[in-house]
Amino acid sequence: MCLGGRYSLMSKRRGTIEEQAQRDKFTALRSFLRRCWAKYPERMAARQAARRPYKGTANKRQKWEYQCAICLNWYIWKRLEMVVDHIVPAGTFLCDDDYRTFIPNLFCDRKNLQVLCKVCHNNKTKLERDK
Ligand SMILES: [Zn+2]
Repeated sequence: MCLGGRYSLMSKRRGTIEEQAQRDKFTALRSFLRRCWAKYPERMAARQAARRPYKGTANKRQKWEYQCAICLNWYIWKRLEMVVDHIVPAGTFLCDDDYRTFIPNLFCDRKNLQVLCKVCHNNKTKLERDK
């Protein structure tokens, strides 16, 4: 049997074509779910619960500011500066079996969501990864 065909499909970094296709599938699914998550009503409710009318004077067009649930400081919402965080992490979505836990965890109840600033979110994520 000639293995040349199969091995020619492999590279050290990306694995076989099948492995790469599998990874691409889950990358696409995660991307799709993230777009759904951005519009998820419970996420919106968590964000609204953490806001108050903007009290600063620097920006007259600014309507709201948001409180980080950990450091309790108030911030203006900017993409990648403030996040709606899962208190119990959603976990990973890297294989077929993960959807049973990842999707319900991602689209969880409002009680499992909190607004965090970037610094507190990075610290929390680092602690979770180190566990
Ligand atoms: Zn914070």
